[in-house]
Amino acid sequence: MHFRLKIYICVSFLAILGMSGCYTPPTPIPLTTVKPPESTMPAAKPRKKAEPYITSQLNHYFVRDWRYIVIHHSATESGSAAEFDRYHRRKKGWENGLGYHFVIGNGNGTPDGKIEIGNRWLDQIDGAHAGVEEYNHYGIGICLVGNFNQSRPTAAQMASLSVLVEYLQNRCHITSENVIMHRHCRQTDCPGRNFPYYKLLANTFRY
Ligand SMILES: [Zn+2]
Repeated sequence: MHFRLKIYICVSFLAILGMSGCYTPPTPIPLTTVKPPESTMPAAKPRKKAEPYITSQLNHYFVRDWRYIVIHHSATESGSAAEFDRYHRRKKGWENGLGYHFVIGNGNGTPDGKIEIGNRWLDQIDGAHAGVEEYNHYGIGICLVGNFNQSRPTAAQMASLSVLVEYLQNRCHITSENVIMHRHCRQTDCPGRNFPYYKLLANTFRY
């Protein structure tokens, strides 16, 4: 068969199919109109992965019945877990030292955003941070170095805090409602008027 004739036959066949309704090319659906149902929509922010050193250092630990995460500022410009530990032992006379379970540095005294793990977390014992027995007993105390009445937490501190809070929520089954600021459990301005609490909640996993 002549080549040109072959093409003619093919084109005619397709034209006949089109006219007869046998062949209806599918109408492409624009991607923007394809949405999963509301209930299966992913959260606005993707969940952040915990930093490897947090999971590798903490995952093997037994955790007790923690119910709250209580956030503090140090109300100092600089500091570290070791420094606060000395202060709590010498000035406050606390034999277990550092009252918080975690300290997040701001670059003055310890690297910016570095998460330091306190002995009270490693030993899974009560904190001495809340000033209220229930929150010392059931609350995991996290202290961000800085005075957030005068300044703000650094971006690195907030990123580390989000990762740590999410990790602890998952590990200890703590709801977002129980991620609180110190001033939620007693009369204090801690963690400072500039602490971006709602930004933290927006960035942490809704457990
Ligand atoms: Zn506090």
